Amino acid sequence: MSWKRAFIGTHGGPEVIDWKVGDVPTPGPGEVLIDQSAIGLNFIDTYHRTGLYPVELPSGLGLEAAGTISALGDGVSDYAVGERVAYMGPGFGAYATHRIMPASALFKVPDGISDEIAAAAILKAATTEGLVERCADVQAGDTVLVHAAAGGVGLIMVQWLKALGVTVIGTVSSEEKEALAREAGCDHVIRYDREDIAPKVRELTEGAGVPTVFDGVGKDTFEASLDSMAPRGLLVSFGNASGPVDGVNLGILAQKGSLFVTRPTLFHYYATPEDREAGMARVWDMIGSGKVKITVGQTYPLVEAAQAHRDLEARRTTGSTVLIP
Ligand code: NDP
Repeated sequence: MSWKRAFIGTHGGPEVIDWKVGDVPTPGPGEVLIDQSAIGLNFIDTYHRTGLYPVELPSGLGLEAAGTISALGDGVSDYAVGERVAYMGPGFGAYATHRIMPASALFKVPDGISDEIAAAAILKAATTEGLVERCADVQAGDTVLVHAAAGGVGLIMVQWLKALGVTVIGTVSSEEKEALAREAGCDHVIRYDREDIAPKVRELTEGAGVPTVFDGVGKDTFEASLDSMAPRGLLVSFGNASGPVDGVNLGILAQKGSLFVTRPTLFHYYATPEDREAGMARVWDMIGSGKVKITVGQTYPLVEAAQAHRDLEARRTTGSTVLIP
């Protein structure tokens, strides 16, 4: 049996994504072989491709996928052949027909949640869970600003916050995205392609500003995020879709209201077995209960991963994107 997997030998644009074909490998001790049926695309994959985030070359690509276990290595007792599983790292190589993974990295996919939904959701929903519930500890009754509200993380985060009883202000760049953000539950939507964010947030909050901002856009929204905040508010700066935030003078946080800024990564919130178990239980519950519906905005054949990267980086995608082997 043969397998196909993406690799990058150099950093660069989507054209650096290349493919290798070989015999399906055998899992070693503690590992399983997964026959993958759906792969989640994440903006972070583009940072690994370009080299914005460090990656040792040559490298595979992709962190997140779902499928069925087709072989077990020695010593694996928690899983069986035929079981459906998903993962969100560690290591790069999810863009593949098959994958060897350590059993300790897997999550069992509950009945009633398809592989496609699992691959579309777990990394983005776990990010939402960690950031909303543990990093920012958002409370019912808060008003919160979420950038790129119609994106993969965005649509999940908006619904999650609504389920907690939060008033959500979302930003988006098009009419189609505005409709999706409203459908997900945004109470207010700011078209940041044509209006200034901070004055609008002040208007919507009667001058008060918001106690929490979730900003995965980065460079282009950083200042507007700070200007939208209430004194002693928290900016959760969790991504760089428009480029990284750098060169910040810390004194600005005092001037703008003794603000807090954190730059978290999901993996520090899912580092221990206890965190992983509790966090993913919460994720499956939010999805299984229907409080958070996963929108797969587009799918691509796996071999068209480069086109999927182009569309994601050009802001042409909505919700989650799934690659199908
Ligand atoms: P999205 O589906 O949200 O895609 C990115 C969106 O960002 C675009 O659709 C676009 O929405 C918006 N955007 C604004 N400016 C730009 C720009 N210049 N170029 C491209 N997009 C832009 O991606 P994901 O859901 O995969 O990820 C969202 C963010 O969350 C990313 O920054 C990602 O790195 C981060 N993330 C961080 C994690 C962590 O652990 N820290 C974990 C997971 C994700 P619009 O057109 O409406 O502006």
